[in-house]
Amino acid sequence: MLIKTILNKVHKLKSFVYQDVKLGLYQGSEVFNVIVVPRKNGHAICSGCQQPAPGYDRLAKRRFEFVPLWGIRVFLLYKMRKVECKTCGVKVEQVPWAEGKKELTKVYMQFLANWARKLSWKEVARTFNTSWEKVFHAVEYVVEWGKKHRSLDNIKAIDEVRATEHKQLQADGYEPVLKKTRWCLLKRKENLTEKEEIKLNTVLQYNLKSVRAYLLREEFQVFWDYISPHWAGKYLDRWCTRVIRSKIEPMKKVAKTVRRHKPLILNWFKAKKAYSSGIVESLSTKIKLTTRKSYGFRTYRCAEIALYHALGKLPEPEMTHRFGLYSWSMLAMANYIHQG
Ligand SMILES: [Zn+2]
Repeated sequence: MLIKTILNKVHKLKSFVYQDVKLGLYQGSEVFNVIVVPRKNGHAICSGCQQPAPGYDRLAKRRFEFVPLWGIRVFLLYKMRKVECKTCGVKVEQVPWAEGKKELTKVYMQFLANWARKLSWKEVARTFNTSWEKVFHAVEYVVEWGKKHRSLDNIKAIDEVRATEHKQLQADGYEPVLKKTRWCLLKRKENLTEKEEIKLNTVLQYNLKSVRAYLLREEFQVFWDYISPHWAGKYLDRWCTRVIRSKIEPMKKVAKTVRRHKPLILNWFKAKKAYSSGIVESLSTKIKLTTRKSYGFRTYRCAEIALYHALGKLPEPEMTHRFGLYSWSMLAMANYIHQG
């Protein structure tokens, strides 16, 4: 009962209910098993298109690891629904607490990744009774999330421009060219469906603020392909100047934010450059420390993730509750326990 209350406080699920919490055995130790069920009338979400779709069947129970409580591992147990989506066909539903086939919940991955900033991956694995690979996957998840969302401000701005302009066009009695264009303007080009791509090509023929905002966002993407922080910085300055001259208000706001955070953003390039140059020996102390912290990494992929995580300063998924916040004394204790 008490654990259910805590879960609802720190990790509330909109379309699902924590039905029951039981103490059980898993891999030879006691764990908390939390039974999760869909809320009545709650729609399943198609994992292909993220749209609601009717569910018709349930799969075997899956286990998702959650943040441990009092040193006891916590698992959400849930029978995934199969959905019959109009667009994608038969798919497994998408649940809000996990991603794809991952065994760890998003919050737990963030929790582990937060710790991986303070301890070595090996130590994190040992402290939380998990494997090095899982810590790696957790850090990888956070880094990938950040890389995908680093231009989120841009996206929000385009959405705002589009919504305002659409209303204005309607009020002025023009053709509703911007109708149903939200996703084709917001999504990255490579993620568009065929239908959306046709729509986008049509819209791009108009001289609209939304189109100009879209093109500016596309130009901004080029920025991430730079390797040299110096040239990336120059590109960023030019981009900001152009956006501010465009007089598109929401985009101007983005440009100002980008300018303000320039050092932080360029940090990401430094990490990237350090990585792509491949000269691990000549890296700064910070990087040496990072590689030592995640020592045991076997591939360049791990090194890359570790560097981005430590130096990239990428955005991180938002959590309603900060599981990662621990008191200094706890951290000291964890350090003490694993000394030597
Ligand atoms: Zn679908």
